[in-house]
Amino acid sequence: MKLKELVEELDSLLKLEEFPGDESANGLQVAGREEVKKVALAVDACSYVFEQAAKLGADFIFVHHGLIWGGVKSIRGTLRNRLRLLLEKELSLYACHLPLDAHPELGNNAQLLRLLGIERRGEFGEYHGRRIGYWGELPQRMSVAGFAALVEERLATRCRLRDFSGYVKRVGVVSGGGWSAIFDAEKIKVDTLLTGEPSHSACSLAEELGVNLIFAGHYATEKPGVLAVGEHLREKLALETVFIDHDTGL
Ligand SMILES: [Zn+2]
Repeated sequence: MKLKELVEELDSLLKLEEFPGDESANGLQVAGREEVKKVALAVDACSYVFEQAAKLGADFIFVHHGLIWGGVKSIRGTLRNRLRLLLEKELSLYACHLPLDAHPELGNNAQLLRLLGIERRGEFGEYHGRRIGYWGELPQRMSVAGFAALVEERLATRCRLRDFSGYVKRVGVVSGGGWSAIFDAEKIKVDTLLTGEPSHSACSLAEELGVNLIFAGHYATEKPGVLAVGEHLREKLALETVFIDHDTGL
């Protein structure tokens, strides 16, 4: 498949134009070979991922966290080294940040609900003026520890939790560093906020709102969307794909 065609396909599939305010330069960040036969997918753009992608014979790398945030002022240090790797190996780099969190089917949050058996009821978690997560309900109430155990099993992760309501039924989900969605928890009346990174700031607010906090890891909550995009490229575009699992454990 031609690089140009793949980029157009991804841009429209992932609705990049809906997130003009995203700090991430979403879309094709580095152009490599014109013909794409194999796509590598990863959560983070970094040297390890680029080296593995080259070794595995990929032409194109899809990531959630790209290299270009808020414009490039200079090319030196780690950015220089990373770009040199991509250019030397003629690898393309495509990044998709907020549009991948929010995507209604392939997104991190939609996939988290699916993996956890939470029935989606609406959007959740405002970030830069729009909601990027979802909230929904479990078929029945669970204990907070029981729900955390389910999350650990389904996402192959370790959770940190704070139990402030005693049960879990209505869950708001925002992948990654989504603690500020606690402000939406008050409006939408969820009993539990599931996000990636632990946040000290969220804790006293959650306590006063009676909302449980489940921190399941930034990496673990942002891998499902990347995997879903890989599946889409394989099944709908007949591209060969490989997922490069470079877990930060955080
Ligand atoms: Zn993230």
